[in-house]
Amino acid sequence: MVKIPKEQNRYCSDCDTYTEHTVKETTNARASPFKKKDRKRERKINKGYGGFPYEDPAHRSRGRKNPISEKKDLCYTCKDCGTAYKPQNQIRTAKLEIER
Ligand SMILES: [Zn+2]
Repeated sequence: MVKIPKEQNRYCSDCDTYTEHTVKETTNARASPFKKKDRKRERKINKGYGGFPYEDPAHRSRGRKNPISEKKDLCYTCKDCGTAYKPQNQIRTAKLEIER
């Protein structure tokens, strides 16, 4: 469990200073359905090969540790100018909690 404060002092490139930012998790960001992995998955499903699209995450990686964590999609908004941006290096964790 990773807890991050809702209001953070971060660098804003528009204001060129450190200002207060609000954090928001954008979970419902719609992913493009035309990525290569999605097209491959669709093809395999239509073809009907064995048990390829492993719905159970426990079967995804045999013998290795299963990845539970994922990169979170955090969006930072500057309080002064209102510019919203996403950092290049997002947090990778299984559980995320934004504290008030
Ligand atoms: Zn700003």
